Amino acid sequence: AAEEGFDLEDVEGAIEEAGHGPLPVLAVVGRPNVGKSTLVNRIIGRREAVVEDKPGVTRDRVTYEAEWAGRRFKVVDTGGWEQDVLGIDASVAAQAEYAIEAADAVVFVVDAKVGATDTDEAVVRLLRKAGKPVVLCANKVDGPSGEADASYLWSLGLGEPHPVSALHGRGTGDMLDKVLEALPEAPAQRFGAALGGPRRIALIGRPNVGKSSLLNKVAGEERVVVNELAGTTRDPVDEIIELGGKTWKFVDTAGIRKRVHLQQGADYYASLRTAAAVEKAEVAVVLIDGSESISVQDQRIVTMAVEAGRALVLAYNKWDTLDEERRYYLEREIETELGQVAWAPRVNVSALTGRHMEKLVPAIETALAGWETRVPTGRLNAFLGELVAAHPHPVRGGKQPRILFGTQAGTKPPRFVLFASGFIEAGYRRFIERRLREEFGFEGTPIHISVRVRE
Ligand code: GDP
Ligand code: GDP
Repeated sequence: AAEEGFDLEDVEGAIEEAGHGPLPVLAVVGRPNVGKSTLVNRIIGRREAVVEDKPGVTRDRVTYEAEWAGRRFKVVDTGGWEQDVLGIDASVAAQAEYAIEAADAVVFVVDAKVGATDTDEAVVRLLRKAGKPVVLCANKVDGPSGEADASYLWSLGLGEPHPVSALHGRGTGDMLDKVLEALPEAPAQRFGAALGGPRRIALIGRPNVGKSSLLNKVAGEERVVVNELAGTTRDPVDEIIELGGKTWKFVDTAGIRKRVHLQQGADYYASLRTAAAVEKAEVAVVLIDGSESISVQDQRIVTMAVEAGRALVLAYNKWDTLDEERRYYLEREIETELGQVAWAPRVNVSALTGRHMEKLVPAIETALAGWETRVPTGRLNAFLGELVAAHPHPVRGGKQPRILFGTQAGTKPPRFVLFASGFIEAGYRRFIERRLREEFGFEGTPIHISVRVRE
């Protein structure tokens, strides 16, 4: 490193930063209008989270990356929820439940001006049951005169209320310090294999693609009856299913099986559930209805899994209904709409007939293997040396930036840091990713490449 002009400490720092595993997750929960979205915006330091919270406006985006005091984490915003047919208590409880389930710590937002309501008490019961660390945010304390309101919230029994003005930023720094204390460095027990447990699968996809049918098919008929009874509770359930001679944990299967028909906020609810399942899983199986055109919603769900850095399998369902013409158009759609994840293993299945069910496990195993691949530094640099010699970066402003060396900083998914003598253009980065995939496989996994430029 030194002879290439990089300080060894910088190199080590860059590798450590790029090699971070999955980020811990913070959920922000509370009643509507207490200021959750405003607070999330504060935390992520951007204005993008609060889209117009009009009823009926689809909010797909529920997780954001944030950083405070040099630590990175994810924030789950549950502010997109509208009261629905379930009634206010049930709907707040339902959204909070999924968010809490997926989280490593929770910020519970209460409107200090209003004080604790019955709905707040209902959320407190959920929080107690979940046993996750909680930071109590007494919001809308815009000035010193509001601090007394905040102190009334001791009555919730969640410890010290932190007076905050999400709107003006007052007190949010102190509260975030507390959040960092509550948040573990790494997500807890999320990746089963490391602990010798079953691998965790999130079966996701838009409504009616056949998720519950597929789950029923793989779980076997008898268990389904049992689980439908259990499904009368609102608990998200992880289900252990034996497949291909191994045990797998399908996360959040109650969410799949539950046939609650919501009106307002249903899309948002589905997004929150999907995000929560993805957070808990190692591999996402995205189910797509092959009989219908690939939609923006399908793409968003795929993107959610990729952005979360999970292994990915694409399963095209309802294959039994596809005629030759539809199959032809489906192939074209896959190329144009999902070309960016052409690296994901693909299976064409029918949850109805059981077609190609046996191909699901090998596809999942392939994706997990890609996700865990580690390329030895020597091999990587031999490859990079040849690549750079054969295909140098285009000359820009009389200079030719060069990749000098690189290393794989982490796995799950694979993360690379490349060290360069000058700015490396996006096109060349994509070229490197493509060549890395050709050389080393990485089937079924997103890969991250960060480039450090010598001063
Ligand atoms: P959510 O439904 O919990 O996500 O709540 P929002 O973030 O959408 O906020 C609801 C309303 O409360 C908005 O009109 C905000 O501007 C307002 N609000 C949020 N935080 C504060 C605060 O700290 N002080 C005051 N005065 N108003 C706030
Ligand atoms: P979910 O909302 O994703 O859980 O979807 P469901 O499992 O409830 O399925 C939605 C509808 O599609 C139901 O009527 C199923 O019977 C039907 N369905 C699911 N899988 C298949 C399949 O492989 N072939 C056919 N023909 N229909 C299917």
